[in-house]
Formats: sequence, structure tokens, C-alpha cells
Amino acid sequence: MSIMSYSILKQNILSIAEDEGFINPRILAPFFPADFTREVPPNYAAPSSSLLVAALPYGNQLEQNDDKADASHLGWIAPFARRNYYREAVKRLKRISLKLRQRYGGEKSSFRIFCNSPIPEKPLAETSGLGCVGKNSLIITKTAGSLVILGAMTLPFALTPDKAELKRFDFCRGCDETNPPCKAACPTKALNGDGTINREKCVQWYASGHGSQIPAEVLAHWDRRLYGCSNCQDACPHNRRPIKGTECEEGVLPAGLDARKILTMTDDEIKAFFKGTAMGLSWLGPKTIRRNASIVLGDPTFS
Ligand code: SF4
Ligand code: SF4
Repeated sequence: MSIMSYSILKQNILSIAEDEGFINPRILAPFFPADFTREVPPNYAAPSSSLLVAALPYGNQLEQNDDKADASHLGWIAPFARRNYYREAVKRLKRISLKLRQRYGGEKSSFRIFCNSPIPEKPLAETSGLGCVGKNSLIITKTAGSLVILGAMTLPFALTPDKAELKRFDFCRGCDETNPPCKAACPTKALNGDGTINREKCVQWYASGHGSQIPAEVLAHWDRRLYGCSNCQDACPHNRRPIKGTECEEGVLPAGLDARKILTMTDDEIKAFFKGTAMGLSWLGPKTIRRNASIVLGDPTFS
């Protein structure tokens, strides 16, 4: 294929990705930048010619926290978890893979999809110029802020890689240097202000099942979160304008769930109830969901 043909191929791939709802799709090559190959499990380091990196917006048009019912037994579910956007992103990446194979050929195994996987998608997004890391530690995109799901797919075509025109914190320039809105909004002061999070202070980290003991100062600010904390994202000016989310009917959950009911459910019942939702992901599990429900009801010792 001539250089010109590869350039047209690249444009076609990017436009197919945009047709599938991804914003700012970019091409990265080679597969992994050298400085983070150490983070990649060996079985993931399959050779590929290029990598498509893209972001699927989930936006902020779903009902917000203050729309949740007031009843004290209801545990809150953060907006990003009220649909299974990971599953939606994978579904759409599969469709892109199929279209590309139908049009340009290639083995199915050459189009390997990564979304919420052990592959660190954030550095891929930053290296490819899809967005830049903000002081909230997340990738911020120009049009959908940090309200996006990142995904990637290997491609068997040697395409010209995109360059990162953005530098880290480029989108944070308008915010107060010492106490930006994301940092000020964090109930547990988990943001360090340099783009990193002190995970052991982060409600979201514990709510996802990490850490054996939740410190008292984190519990004091847990509130009624059954799953997810998004205070730092909600406060960011890039996320406060209306951002249209991708249509998604995968794994729909309400804004609030009865924590008392969760405590009466067996492991199998919890697994069946959350199957296919963002709370059905393997690392969360019934024990964590039950523990979160007990915190909602004011008894963090329950397990
Ligand atoms: S609130 Fe400001 S400093 Fe924080 S991530 Fe958003 S833009 Fe950056
Ligand atoms: S997710 Fe919540 S606890 Fe974690 S850094 Fe953001 S605001 Fe703080």
C-alpha cells in the first residue's frame, strides 16, 4: 500500500470510530510506548502495527445525585455506574473491528480490544493526544471533559501515529493553582493536586473493593454511596457544561437502591441482580457490595 493509501486508510478508520460514537479517536504506534511496557502483563504484549485509542462519552445528562430519593435506606449509585458503559464501548469497538475486516481484511485476532483491562489506558490516551491528564488524575478531553470511558484496539496496519499536542494539565490552566475545584470538592482530601490520588483516602477506591480496613476519616465522609464517588469530577468546569452521553441500555441501574434489601440477599442473588451492570464486574463482588450497603445503613462492621 502506498503512503497516500495508508493516510486514507487512517482517515477511514478514524471516521468509522467517530460514527460509532467515539470522540477524538487517535492512532498510536508502536503498540506500547517504552516507558510503560513494564506495567503490561507479558501475555498482552502481542505485536501489532498500530493501536486505535478512543473515548466514549457518558456525559452528565442522566439524573444527578440530588435527584435520588431521600429515604435513608437508599444507597447511591454514581452516574457513571448507572449504565455499563464499558460493555457498550466493547460492543462498539467490536462493530468497528467487523467493519474494518469486511472492508480491508485481516484476522479477527489482529483486532484486539482493551477496555477496563489490565492495559493502562490512561497513558495510551495521553501519549496519543486524545486528551491530557488533569489534576483530578483523569484524562480530560476537549469536548466531553473527563466523563468518558477509554478504549483501545490493535490494528494490523502500519499507520502514522498521532502526536500529543496537549501537555499535562493544559486543561487545568483556568483553575486556582493551590485549591482547584476538584481538590476542594473531594470529601476526604484524596487529591494531591499534582495529578495523583492518595488512593488510601479515596472513597471510590474502597467502594471498588480495595483495601482491607476503611479508615475512620474516609468512613466519616462516605455518606450513602453504595457505589461510586464523583465529587471531584462533578466540580470540574469541563464537566459542568451539558455533555451528551452515548446512548446505552446496557446494565441499567437506578440512582438509588435499597441497602436493607441488599443485606438480605445471598451471594448468588447479589451476583444475579448485578450481572451485566457496572457493579457486576468481577473485582467488586457480593462481599464488597454488602459491605458498602452496611456503611450506607450506618454499620460499617457488617460483612
Ligand atoms: S477542576 Fe480544574 S484543576 Fe481540577 S481537573 Fe478540572 S480543570 Fe483541572
Ligand atoms: S472519587 Fe471521591 S474520594 Fe476519590 S478523589 Fe474523587 S472526590 Fe475524592
